Order: sequence, then C-alpha cells, then structure tokens
Amino acid sequence: MNKKELDMLKQPEIYLTTRTSVDWTQVAEFLADQGVPPIPDSIRAGKDESAAVVEISARMCYMSYGRGRKDIADFINNLLYRKDGSVLEHVNFGFVITGISRSLTHELIRHRAGFAYSQRSQRYVDESGASFVIPPALVNETFSNDKVNELFNKAMENASTSYEELVNSLEESLDESLFEKKTDRRKAIRQAARSVLPNATETKLFVTANVRAWRHFIEMRSTPYADWEIRRMAIQILNLLVKEAPLLFGDFKIEELPDGTSIATPLHSKV
Ligand SMILES: Cc1cc2nc3c(=O)[nH]c(=O)nc-3n(C[C@H](O)[C@H](O)[C@H](O)COP(=O)(O)OP(=O)(O)OC[C@H]3O[C@@H](n4cnc5c(N)ncnc54)[C@H](O)[C@@H]3O)c2cc1C
Repeated sequence: MNKKELDMLKQPEIYLTTRTSVDWTQVAEFLADQGVPPIPDSIRAGKDESAAVVEISARMCYMSYGRGRKDIADFINNLLYRKDGSVLEHVNFGFVITGISRSLTHELIRHRAGFAYSQRSQRYVDESGASFVIPPALVNETFSNDKVNELFNKAMENASTSYEELVNSLEESLDESLFEKKTDRRKAIRQAARSVLPNATETKLFVTANVRAWRHFIEMRSTPYADWEIRRMAIQILNLLVKEAPLLFGDFKIEELPDGTSIATPLHSKV
C-alpha cells in the first residue's frame, strides 16, 4: 500500500461571523412613544451593543428606562449576580468553526438549550482526502513522542484508505436501477463508507447560541474534566467573546495548568 499524504490539523480556525445589533432609531421612537426619558448615555456607552440589548430588554420588565443604575457595567454585573439570565437570551453570537474533530462535535451538540447547528454532511460531501485532527495530547510536547505520532498517523492512513476503497468498490457494485436519483445512490455509498472514518476526522460547522447558552457551554467545557480539544475550543471562543462583549463574559478567569492546558471559571456560575 502506498503511503498517503494526509492533511493533519493541529488546531481549529474560529470565525465570529454573526452578532446581535441595536436599531437605535427604533429604540428612541419606542421610548418617545412611551413618554419615558430618551436613550440614556450609559446604554450607548462604548461599542458593545450586546450589553445594550441586555439592558434595553431587562428594563422592559419594570419600564425603568432612565431610572435606577446609571452605569451599564454596574447594571449588567447586578443581573449576573442575581442570576437574571433570561435577558441574556436576547443576544446571539454565531461562529463558523473548521479544523475540529467529529468527536468534538459529538460533545458540542449535546448542548441543546439556545443552540443552533449546521454541520457539513458526511453523506453529501465526499470524505476521500479528508483532513484529520491531531488530538491536543499528541501535539503537547509533554505527552507526545515519535512512537505515538507514528501510530496515530498510521491509523488515519488506514482509515482513509479503507474509506476510499469502500467508496470505489460500492461505486462499481451498487445497482443504479435501485435509485430514483443519482444523488440518492451517491448518498447511499458515502453513508455506508463513512462508518470506517475515525472520530478524528475533521468537520466544519456553523454554530449560533445566545449569551446565556454560551456562558453555560464555556463553564461546562472549560473545566479540567472536559476533553482537551473541546476545552481548547471553548476557551478560544471565550477569548473572542470577552473581546466582543466584555461586560457579558468578563467575569471568567482563565488559568494555565501545569500540563500546559488552560481552564476557565466564571465568577457567576450558570446564570
Ligand atoms: C466533563 C464532561 C463530561 C461528560 N461526560 C458525559 C458522558 O460520559 N456521557 C454523556 O452522555 N454525557 C456526558 N457529558 C455531557 C453532559 O451530560 C451534558 O449532556 C452536556 O454537558 C450538556 O449539558 P446541559 O444539558 O446542561 O446543556 P444544555 O442542553 O445546553 O442545557 C442547558 C440547561 O438547560 C436546562 N435544560 C435543558 N434541557 C432540559 C430538559 N429537557 N429538561 C430540563 N432542563 C433542561 C438544564 O438546566 C441544562 O443544564 C459530559 C459533559 C461534561 C462537561
């Protein structure tokens, strides 16, 4: 068997693709119609519209526009402290993520409340020449060595070759008359062949969640007990979200462990 040249990935690419924004004209019109004070400067402070969405929605409950706490940071901290998390559901962030393994996405999609997923199909998209994700432990110098790297690479080569052989063989043998459309036959072949692909097979997905759900996901998957690959991704997402919405994610503390990996812990747990 010829040695295959495989694309082996060491870490994901994460793109923050979608965010929630405010239509300030409409907000101003609503406040004027209600005869309450115009948009306070505190809400419009800074570029962080996600925090403004949280404040605008939270103030609906008591129609407290222009009253009470004047500082948006103070306002948001108080919501987190009191675990008034439902208003965080008004703000969504969407990410395109590539270079992650199927084992990671199997864990990711267990997070249900407030999440939406669109993942590349292994039935439609041919996986001949698929990339594979090297588990972080095998990238980590403390754990990895030539022997384990060789064993891992060999397993991926064998799986990739078996997949291609199965696809080719089924392409030759599967009776075309059994299928109404060519696409159905193509799908039938790939859905059978994919069974020999390993958990490390690379996948790509678009995932959107609201802030309450992202906070819960990051809290659950950034502990020392979480798998290294999903933990690394959760902390990368956290870093992007802290930059994007510091008032909504700034209470997470990131620490490095002796093994070189990181964990993150929120000041306000499960709001
Ligand atoms: C370190 C670690 C190890 C794990 N090991 C395993 C394992 O070995 N096997 C395994 O199967 N899973 C395992 N899991 C997955 C885990 O059990 C959860 O399925 C996953 O973390 C999603 O959590 P969640 O249900 O809280 O999240 P979500 O589905 O996003 O739900 C968020 C919250 O909404 C509420 N909620 C959601 N749905 C309902 C509902 N139907 N009824 C009532 N309340 C609801 C709950 O309060 C819940 O915490 C592990 C998770 C972690 C972090």
